[in-house]
Amino acid sequence: MLAERTKKIKPSPTLAVDSRAKELKAKGMDVVNFGVGEPDFDTPEHIKEAAIKAIKDGFTKYTPVGGIDELKEAIIEKLERDNGLKYEKANILVSSGAKHSLYNIAQALFGPGDEVIIPAPYWVSYPDQVLLNDAQPVIVETREEYDFMLHPEVLKEKITSRTKAIILNSPSNPTGFIYTKKALEQIAEIALKHNLYIISDEIYEKLIYDGEKHISIASLSEEVKNKTIVVNGLSKSHAMTGWRIGYAAGPQEIIKTMTTIQSQSTSNPTSIAQKAAVAALRGPQDCVEQMRLEFEKRRDYLVKELNSIPGVSCKMPKGAFYAFPNVEKILGKNGINSSMDLSIYLLEKALVAVVPGSAFGAEGYVRISYATSMENISKGINRIRKAVEELR
Ligand SMILES: *Cc1c(COP(=O)(O)O)cnc(C)c1O
Repeated sequence: MLAERTKKIKPSPTLAVDSRAKELKAKGMDVVNFGVGEPDFDTPEHIKEAAIKAIKDGFTKYTPVGGIDELKEAIIEKLERDNGLKYEKANILVSSGAKHSLYNIAQALFGPGDEVIIPAPYWVSYPDQVLLNDAQPVIVETREEYDFMLHPEVLKEKITSRTKAIILNSPSNPTGFIYTKKALEQIAEIALKHNLYIISDEIYEKLIYDGEKHISIASLSEEVKNKTIVVNGLSKSHAMTGWRIGYAAGPQEIIKTMTTIQSQSTSNPTSIAQKAAVAALRGPQDCVEQMRLEFEKRRDYLVKELNSIPGVSCKMPKGAFYAFPNVEKILGKNGINSSMDLSIYLLEKALVAVVPGSAFGAEGYVRISYATSMENISKGINRIRKAVEELR
């Protein structure tokens, strides 16, 4: 008999679409995959070189559980430089990816009876990580008209004596929207008043367009910082998804507990990948800017094309590499009644993989990743247009 908690969770739905698309591809079908959640760029050369050097130098043994000092120092420099946040090494934990850092947080903070506020559309792992720790996710809807930000009045209504934390993600996967300073201030004020922790997933920080600026909620004040755990990593900023390096920065006591948890599960993140991460953080950053510019070009093209498809409307996202078009007007035609039906139709009929909004707790939308070439975007969008026009 499997443990009770395993009955509450499901495999990541984004990975499910991805694997069906890959299945069709393996059969020789020419699938355009808009389901991907990782940069299509190669890891920059100087980062790879640092890892090769680490191997050759024999840097291939266990390291301290929470990461090597050199990497923690590079992370501290980054947080101060980019976010205006001052931390000590005791405030930092390096994990095997940001997802792992988030899981360590869930283990350290959540338990039976706790409620955790998660604005929808949400990243798929948040609710399941809460459930795996026997706590209750409280899904709070956001609105397209308010750029999918958590509204302070709606937040207030959802807080109970059991509420333990809020999980924020800006720039957001799946919507691509970012929180304004004002919205963050309003949320932070409520969080402080009710003594809630704020978990701030900032993994898409480097992918922001139109001159907008990323603000870490922890930077609002010392009080807010003391209740916030910032999560970030190299996967999206430096095209390093496979290296598995992410980190958390927060109050010492929490980081210490998370480190103990990590010591009893995975131990240190890969030694070689840690050296690569040091090179990524301390080396030249023009590679990051090049990728950002390319994403911005694709976004502009994709969103313009999406809006020219009858029944589809897409607000211009400000960050990450996803468009989150509203497809409500298409639903109801030809027995296509949900974003899942539409995703299946597009994959099987038009050979285009998108992720249904329902996977992120938001019916009436689909997520389209533009972490793929201009050529693929152009081909995929034409197929979507044709398939949608055939629906009556
Ligand atoms: C990709 C992603 C992560 C996980 O990143 P890793 O560092 O590769 O584990 C975390 N949060 C969001 C919102 C993501 O999209």
